[in-house]
Amino acid sequence: MAKVLYHNDIQEEALKNKKVAVIGYGSQGHAHALNLKESGFEVVVGLRPGKSWDKAVEDGVQVETVADAVAQADVVMILLPDEHQPKVFEEHIKPNLQAGNALAFAHGFNVHFNQIVPPSDVDVFLVAPKGPGHLVRRTFTEGAGVPALYGIKQDITGTAKEIALAYAKGIGAGRAGILATTFQEETETDLFGEQAVLCGGLTSLVKAGFETLTEAGYQPEVAYFECMHELKLIVDLMYEGGLEYMRYSISDTAQWGDFVSGPRIVNEETKARMKEVLSEIQTGTFAKGWILENQVNRPQFNAINAKENNHLIEKVGRELRELMPFVKQPTKSKKEVVSN
Ligand code: NDP
Ligand code: MG
Ligand code: MG
Repeated sequence: MAKVLYHNDIQEEALKNKKVAVIGYGSQGHAHALNLKESGFEVVVGLRPGKSWDKAVEDGVQVETVADAVAQADVVMILLPDEHQPKVFEEHIKPNLQAGNALAFAHGFNVHFNQIVPPSDVDVFLVAPKGPGHLVRRTFTEGAGVPALYGIKQDITGTAKEIALAYAKGIGAGRAGILATTFQEETETDLFGEQAVLCGGLTSLVKAGFETLTEAGYQPEVAYFECMHELKLIVDLMYEGGLEYMRYSISDTAQWGDFVSGPRIVNEETKARMKEVLSEIQTGTFAKGWILENQVNRPQFNAINAKENNHLIEKVGRELRELMPFVKQPTKSKKEVVSN
């Protein structure tokens, strides 16, 4: 089994006398900044004036422009949206980095696909939480954590690994487990996971199930509960005890249906498509498409997003969730929710 590091395995000294600039205060940014600060590290947040700036000030963290934050810091963690990172890096970060600083990322995309080329005189590492930023924050406040991967790209100081591990511990990942990786492995597996299973695979599965039921004449509300709402309850069981525990908890009828029908839905053909998706990630085809899509202001992204938000499952879901006060109601868009 791969070596997993936990809280007590990790020394904090390498980061104790250093200042960390967290660039961005969105999903990951607010979590890293607040968790590190509460773990006793010195933190400055780098931003442009705007909503995030105001939020960070409200949360009591030191906020500076990106350039000033980088200039003050020894360790610079870039937590901007991946597609904005290269420009901000060239304009505000690179000119203010000093030899011997450390440059850090939470996802390997830009470095792996050469959209950011770090100077050769700084440490470069990755601490990638395997969970959404809001859970990185929430679990930390609950005394728990989200697991993370770390990887070292450049070790100029001879302490890059110690700094990366102390950072990962500082955001609370040591409570859940910290695993070594490389920029390549993190980038490729992260993209694959979100495309094939966690986001793309799951949303397509849920929609296809919902459409199958509603097209057969069943009530959309019933289809919603069956194909979307109940999913969380099932996933919670898998999270706690794997497939076995989930299957132990469901009825034997459900388990038999799982065995005989599941492999007909996700079959060899599906797996062949997964291999195709993985190959497009590995060859850089996916990255190129996404970079180009951003360069032309996201025509496809925006069109698909608008269409998806109008899907019947979303309309029905909004109405049903209104009537379930115990289900958390997101009142803000994803980009605006920076703390909870
Ligand atoms: P967000 O989209 O939440 O980041 C938005 C933040 O970036 C806001 O504070 C925004 O400030 C700021 N920002 C955007 N553009 C600029 C700019 N030009 N100058 C200054 N600040 C700017 O990002 P995520 O947290 O989702 O992602 C950050 C990194 O973490 C990415 O590399 C991602 O791959 C990685 N990651 C993300 C995960 C997640 O849970 N979302 C999971 C694991 C890794 P403003 O309010 O001014 O717009
Ligand atoms: Mg990702
Ligand atoms: Mg059932």
